Amino acid sequence: MTRYSALALLKAGLTGQRGWDRAWRDPEPTTHYDVIVIGGGGHGLATAYYLAKVHGIRNVAVLEKGWIGGGNTGRNTTIVRSNYRQKPLHDLFDFALGLWEGMSDELNYNVMFSPRGALFLGHSDSDMTVLAQRGDALRCDGIDAELLTRDQVRKLVPLLDMSPDARFPVHGGLIQRRGGTARHDAVAWGYARAADSLGVDIIQNCEVTGIVQSGGRVTGVETSRGKIGAGRVGICVAGNSGPVAALAGITLPIEAQTLQAFVTEQVKPMIDTVIMSQSLHCYISQSDKGGIVLGGDPDQFPSYAQRGLPPRIERAAAEAIALVPALSRLRMARCWAGTTDMSFDGSPIISALPVGGLYLNGGWCYGGFKATPGSGFVYAHLLATGAAHRLAAPFALDRFAEARPSTKRGSARCRSCADDADRLPPLRSARASRVRL
Ligand SMILES: Cc1cc2nc3c(=O)[nH]c(=O)nc-3n(C[C@H](O)[C@H](O)[C@H](O)COP(=O)(O)OP(=O)(O)OC[C@H]3O[C@@H](n4cnc5c(N)ncnc54)[C@H](O)[C@@H]3O)c2cc1C
Repeated sequence: MTRYSALALLKAGLTGQRGWDRAWRDPEPTTHYDVIVIGGGGHGLATAYYLAKVHGIRNVAVLEKGWIGGGNTGRNTTIVRSNYRQKPLHDLFDFALGLWEGMSDELNYNVMFSPRGALFLGHSDSDMTVLAQRGDALRCDGIDAELLTRDQVRKLVPLLDMSPDARFPVHGGLIQRRGGTARHDAVAWGYARAADSLGVDIIQNCEVTGIVQSGGRVTGVETSRGKIGAGRVGICVAGNSGPVAALAGITLPIEAQTLQAFVTEQVKPMIDTVIMSQSLHCYISQSDKGGIVLGGDPDQFPSYAQRGLPPRIERAAAEAIALVPALSRLRMARCWAGTTDMSFDGSPIISALPVGGLYLNGGWCYGGFKATPGSGFVYAHLLATGAAHRLAAPFALDRFAEARPSTKRGSARCRSCADDADRLPPLRSARASRVRL
């Protein structure tokens, strides 16, 4: 594989851009792999990469029913940060953030990680108290967090509505300066290319339709391209976690919900940090191409449709315009949706399943992009060793059966994912009571 470098670029430029290798192969599946990862999103591809790189397990296939990165990985609003309040979450996400910081070098692929700062706005005294508490919790664990006054926020984002009669008055904010954005497609492509170069087979257009078992152990998968044997199988399919686990007769405490996002026409730089809010479900950033990327609430009912309800977009747009009135002058260019894997306590599940050799990485709700490298790293550890990595140990599936919180504070759904999930609606108790592990 040609290493990407300034010299390689120059050479290709002088020779008419001929001679570039394919970024990854397009292999036919073989009959048996040591490990099969189901799902070619960022998490699945990162898992395959770390299996090969860290654990030396190279007889690995990633099976993707569509095209790699075509799920939530290519549909998210690209926000990367680690400032979750609860310790198990911020430990895992901060480990991931450390990997983000070196990812382009590690993969020899520019993932355009841009640590432009991730700012939470506080709109009331109580918001500011919560932000201060979160900042304290983060700093106690050595994670950067800076509480900002109203004037400091005004200086950082001059386009915010700071007038006395603003619909959402800004009292201050909490910023993580190491947070920011990354190019989502590049993350999938970078991991795919690096994993492929280590011998991993990335097989697209290959839907897993069955999980083959013998004597209580997984022995392979049925796919749209035939049966493939495997020593271990890792499910990593985000919003499809429920249906795929059901192929092995397992019901998960995960519900699929639609989450939408949208982007405006491209304009000159006007917002150079990521803006979120402690009280609103609205997040705003500007992409490197110039579009303002906006997101809001999930649709809050179970669905596998990758398109959502217009009122959600309208609400997110209204909140964004109230925060940054200049946005009202822009036209919306595109909107899209993904199917999120909403776990019943708002925290991920990285765990062995009750079938030997079968594992799950899911339940990331709508905050898993930022976890991608860390999630892949700890899931590879689980698949390679059969034991949970210390950062993943709090996120075992049996916590639901034992009513054990994944975070110290408690298992209430809206507490464990802290910021992202603070405003999540309760999942329907009827479904929750049907949970079978
Ligand atoms: C609109 C939106 C905005 C978001 N914004 C953010 C954000 O700003 N920051 C953040 O951290 N997170 C965000 N998220 C969440 C984040 O995108 C996800 O948590 C993360 O990308 C999940 O990655 P993944 O690899 O697990 O899943 P995916 O990228 O969805 O990959 C799963 C793959 O599995 C494949 N698959 C499914 N079933 C099968 C099968 N039977 N056989 C084979 N393959 C199968 C799918 O085709 C898919 O490609 C957002 C999500 C959405 C939808």
